[in-house]
Amino acid sequence: MSEKKDESAEGAGPPPEPRRGSTRRALLIGGAAAGLGAAVLARDQLGRLWWRLPGVVKKREEGAVDAPGAQWTAASGANWRRADRPSDYAIDRVVIHVVQGGYATALKVFKDPGHGAATHYVIRKDGHVAQMIRELDVAYHAGDREMNERSVGIEHEGFVDKKASFTDAMYASSARLTAGICERYDIPVDREHIIGHVEVDGTDHTDPGPHWDWDRYLRLVRRARDRPARSGASATPS
Ligand SMILES: [Zn+2]
Repeated sequence: MSEKKDESAEGAGPPPEPRRGSTRRALLIGGAAAGLGAAVLARDQLGRLWWRLPGVVKKREEGAVDAPGAQWTAASGANWRRADRPSDYAIDRVVIHVVQGGYATALKVFKDPGHGAATHYVIRKDGHVAQMIRELDVAYHAGDREMNERSVGIEHEGFVDKKASFTDAMYASSARLTAGICERYDIPVDREHIIGHVEVDGTDHTDPGPHWDWDRYLRLVRRARDRPARSGASATPS
């Protein structure tokens, strides 16, 4: 990447024969600009210039959620990486996970900086939805960098070998959530784009397991997509 260090980048052109003092000042200004350039490059590597884009600051209000009805509770910053999706990475996958534990356990480990992983959302068996990471950002949930960058991860309370983990309320709420994600990023509702963690290349995870009813789930996602008007606040228990 190139940096412009001379002052000619600043204005209409270099002044003719500058005296020594003004040259020095111009160099200082140039130095400051170069310093800014370095800061920009560092940010670029970290966050793809998220802070320069209009609208980004507004979208990062404290406690804001992407899914209507979701309750914000932040994951540890060590378990995700700041990004500006879908501007820097297109989102075209939803990855379905099962906790192998309870809702409270999922929230606890995702808030633990030592855990090294978290999903954007966690769904409780009564259908309550917690959002822990913004969809703008890359969550470490799939065990695969490219998949993390292109996907939204949804964790479901329960165990892969317990069919009773997956309640009607959970299916319905999760399907509304996934329908909203598919709508936001124009993702087709099919098994190529809505996948289980088990289907991520190279994974040794088995979730969501054999009891997760994909046919039912996809049917519910399509139904929620086709009548989006009511998909909001019902995810929050009264
Ligand atoms: Zn998983």
